Amino acid sequence: MKILSIDIGGTTTKIAVICSETKKIIAKYEAIKTQKGNSLKWLFYYIDNNVKETYKVISLCIPGFYSKEKQMIISAFNLGYKNFKVVNECKKYSNKKVFVTNDANAASLGEFWKSNLKYNNAIFYILGTGLGGAIIIDKKIYEGSLGFAGEFGHGPFYKDKVKCNCGNEHCIEPVSSGTGITNNLILNAKNNPNSELGKLYKSDPKKFSIEKITPLIKKNDKLVNKSLRESLTPLVNNIVVMIYALNPDAVFIGGGPSKLGDDLINIIKSILKENKNLSLIEKTKILISKHGNDSALYGCAYNALSKMNSF
Ligand SMILES: [Zn+2]
Repeated sequence: MKILSIDIGGTTTKIAVICSETKKIIAKYEAIKTQKGNSLKWLFYYIDNNVKETYKVISLCIPGFYSKEKQMIISAFNLGYKNFKVVNECKKYSNKKVFVTNDANAASLGEFWKSNLKYNNAIFYILGTGLGGAIIIDKKIYEGSLGFAGEFGHGPFYKDKVKCNCGNEHCIEPVSSGTGITNNLILNAKNNPNSELGKLYKSDPKKFSIEKITPLIKKNDKLVNKSLRESLTPLVNNIVVMIYALNPDAVFIGGGPSKLGDDLINIIKSILKENKNLSLIEKTKILISKHGNDSALYGCAYNALSKMNSF
């Protein structure tokens, strides 16, 4: 089956036609500028004029909350969508069946699909500007009642008071997101200017990024280790709760810090080892999620497939 996958991002929208049998992109179109507001006229104008491949269904993802029940985007602030009846809007321009999910779910599904569906159940944590994720149960995305399942970053979970963008003050997002991890490394670097981390940061503060600390992790640098453990302990505590709640086959960690690869996984596992009921936890695989550029496009395709029960 051929699926028209559309990844509507805050700035640009990516479009591809994907073949479900080969799991390959048949045609990919240049990223176009996303237009805001409750209309998709701009999108279908582009599709009508540029997409020559035939396709059976349309599957799109958006950075926001989608209610499957109401077939409505409850909110996607970056897109200016609010209570947007997206499926009805698509019907104005196309008679094809339409599937919708959020971008974190799509990116996770894409990786899950491309990894040859080795696991039945998996949890994805995406450590970016925020801390989002996805829950996959029996090879399908679990979206929840309002469609925002997998928002692991929020809730009164963290012991200290830290202001979160959502308005709460004890979320793990400000601490364990990609931004949170980097900010803590910078704080530790500034507080210890003569340390290896301090010197690394001072050498080019503007270009400081998490992958630069790899040599220091390899050297078992105490300050870097301390900083990462501070940031990652709330995340690992959340992972333990989710493993007990859902008993997944695997937990995938994606986003900027995943560039640390096995070094990141080793630190997470070393924090996990402090958990007393390790025998159950240890059976869950902790893996890096690479989330390549086209993951969300593949995930849109797989979302449609899994909902049509044709995989
Ligand atoms: Zn929050």
